[in-house]
Amino acid sequence: MKPELVDIGVNLGDKAFDKDRDDVVERALEAGVTTMILTGTTLEESQQTVQLTELYPDHCFTTAGIHPHYAKDATEQHFAELRDMYKLEKVVAVGEAGLDFNRDFSPRPVQEQVFEKHIEMAVETGMPLFCHERDASKRFADIVKNYRDDICDLVVHCFTADKESLYRYLDLDLHIGITGWVCDERRGFHLHPLLNDIPANKLMVETDCPYLLPRTSKPKPKSRRNEPAFLGEVVKTIAAQTGKSIEQIAQETTKTAKSFFRLP
Ligand SMILES: [Zn+2]
Repeated sequence: MKPELVDIGVNLGDKAFDKDRDDVVERALEAGVTTMILTGTTLEESQQTVQLTELYPDHCFTTAGIHPHYAKDATEQHFAELRDMYKLEKVVAVGEAGLDFNRDFSPRPVQEQVFEKHIEMAVETGMPLFCHERDASKRFADIVKNYRDDICDLVVHCFTADKESLYRYLDLDLHIGITGWVCDERRGFHLHPLLNDIPANKLMVETDCPYLLPRTSKPKPKSRRNEPAFLGEVVKTIAAQTGKSIEQIAQETTKTAKSFFRLP
């Protein structure tokens, strides 16, 4: 039997999955990925992922929020609708929210405002935060620090930054999400020595599919589309780099994810 895994970053609402979503979920289950946390990156997409959790009720939960790329489009009405969504049983985290100073698709002051709004909603509801951060680690940590005592838990998903940023987050007692970036010899191997520094009760795994197909996948899938069934590649790489077994990494990350998202 394959060890049970939780994929904490699944963009199942993405149009890349429109043609064969059922098969994608089926393959995930066959691969042992029994729980998927879908990512909501806009109000509309969050509404869509809530509907998807109803199609796969035993296996899917979702976040709901506004990604920093779309911060410039956020309105008070959006926040009011998100607040209603946080009452739903299937919505288990506030986000995706955060700061992206790499692509700067929204002006930075607007990103910061919208990020703080999400933090406030997480504080109000007592829910954990699912966060995105690119080239903004210092600012991100400074903002989180102001609220840290009132936030239950926060994960920096798809962590790809350096040691200094990692320690900034661990010092704030945040969780870290690791993707197939660690399988990428061109840009992800700097993460290998850092994997040992992340405590087991802070480490979770994710595909961030359909993006970030693990480059170690064999045989190489025909399409570059990633899917939850490939999460094992991330687990395998973490196991190899930390000297733990695949089973142990699976067990630890699953336990951490279930506790982080307060899953039944
Ligand atoms: Zn992200």
